[in-house]
Formats: sequence, C-alpha cells, structure tokens
Amino acid sequence: MRHRDTGAGLKTPALYVVATPLGNLGDIGARALEVLRGADAIACEDTRHTRRLLDHFGIRAETFSLHEHNEAAAAERLIRLLRDGRVVALVSDAGTPAVSDPGARAVAAVRAAGFDVIPVPGPNAAIAALSASGLTDPHFLFYGFLPAKETARRKALAELKPLPCALVFYEAPHRIEETVADLAAMLEPQRTLVIARELTKLFESIASLPLAEAPAWLAADADRRRGEFVLAVSAPPPAEGVDAEAARVLDLLLAELPLKQAAKLAAEISGASKNVLYDLALEKKRGD
Ligand code: SAM
Repeated sequence: MRHRDTGAGLKTPALYVVATPLGNLGDIGARALEVLRGADAIACEDTRHTRRLLDHFGIRAETFSLHEHNEAAAAERLIRLLRDGRVVALVSDAGTPAVSDPGARAVAAVRAAGFDVIPVPGPNAAIAALSASGLTDPHFLFYGFLPAKETARRKALAELKPLPCALVFYEAPHRIEETVADLAAMLEPQRTLVIARELTKLFESIASLPLAEAPAWLAADADRRRGEFVLAVSAPPPAEGVDAEAARVLDLLLAELPLKQAAKLAAEISGASKNVLYDLALEKKRGD
C-alpha cells in the first residue's frame, strides 16, 4: 500500500507528525526516516534530545523547539514555513507527538491555516503496553496522566470506575507508588493491573497482578519503581447476575431518577431482568 506522498517525494507544503522510538532506536520506522531526511525543518519537544536521534541516523535537518510553553509561537513559525512552501516535521521526545505530549495545539493551528497534516505512525507507549498486557477486554480508555494531587486523582478514578472497559494511564517514577495506591483504593480489588515499565529498553518488565496486591508488590523492590510506566487496569468485573453495561446504565439513571423508575428503564434499555436490577439498585442505595 502506498501513501500518495511516497514514491513522488514528500508532499509540499505539509506538516508531517512523526512518531519516534520510546527507547530502542531500532523501532524508528522506514517512513519516519524518509520524512525526517526530507524535511526542511523539524519542530522538536527538546532539540538536544532529538539531535541525538538525528545524529544517530546521519540526518542534518534544521531543528527548532516546540514545547508546552512556546506552542503558540512555534505554531506560527510552522505556518510561516508552510507558507514558504516548506516540508516540516513534528516530533516529541519519545513516541507519538500530541499524545500526552506537545503538538495538538500546533496541529490544530496548522490545519486551521489550511495546510495538510500527515501522520507518520509508529511507537506509542500505551499501545505497546496494551499489546503485551494479556488483557482481553475488547475496549479500552486511554487516560494519560492522572492528576498529581490525591483529591483530584481519586475524583477522576471514581468517575472512571464504572466504565465498561480497560483503563490505560501514564505515570512517572516519582508518583508511581501513590498512583498505584489510589488505583487499589478506588477500583475493585480483583481487577488486574498490568505495570509495563521501561518498554523497549534494557530493563523492560511487564508485571500482571490483582490490583489488591499491587502496592505491596511495588514496595517490595525499589527496581520495580524505577523508569517510565504504563499502567493498564482490566475492565470492572460484572455485577452479580447483571452485565457491566446494564450496571452502568443503572448507575447513570439512578443519578437522575427514583429507584423504581431507574431499574425499570435500565431493564428496558439493557435487556437485563427488571427484578435483578431493582435488587441491585436497592443494594447501591444502601451502600451510598
Ligand atoms: N507521546 C508518548 C507516547 O506516544 O507514548 C508519551 C509521552 S508522555 C510525556 C511520557 C510518558 O509515556 C511516560 O511518563 C510514561 O508514562 C510513558 N512512556 C514513555 N516511554 C515509555 C517506556 N519506554 N516505557 C513505559 N512507559 C513509557
């Protein structure tokens, strides 16, 4: 399969959003290299960091920085280059730009200015972790970084708890213990937690364990708390006798309607038994 830009050279002018390795330089894509070699300029989250990658592959293109704190000005620069008919690439320090990384606002500005934005897909920590996690849930929600403060983090987790899908988070080493402690405190203890650490690097490890056991497992060995982390949590267990979707519908309706009406409507929407949902609603009200 050929993209319209291959064979005939790069499309000019256009912004190419290029994924780069998470750690292992061997993960750079052939098309990513072709685009970085052909670009007139490369916008980088950190120019010194990207320079090492470019040097490794003998790429000399001009670089400039585009990070959280200068994104609007850097987007203007991108647009000026595009108006001059240049090919520009956007990279972040690791993985896919604009995914828990700078770039989304610049991409929006470039698109709004009427220029093509072309993705060059490749490494992404969340997808790499999920692919090797062994979780079998058909759906997942990618959350990225949870809030740094405990109250806000716990509130976010309370909102995520009933969603009928796996949850995927990013976390830094200095917060891994508190975040895992909050996951264990706020979500059902029997959910599986996959801790994917240092993916594609020398000390890569992927551990899978019941959420209830995770805080002790992390505390047992300092090496388990080093490096970069993706945390993936399996979907909630089905409520006894009711599938997760029916329980979710019931939760939503209970927030708005009297118990009896919520159970009746939830049964109609989900096809689950009205009596079972009524009993479950009673249980939930008692628990509140
Ligand atoms: N844009 C990147 C991507 O596509 O995955 C994510 C950038 S975000 C600023 C950095 C976070 O991604 C880290 O704190 C960690 O949670 C996760 N991450 C990046 N590289 C990783 C790796 N090699 N192993 C595990 N997690 C990683």
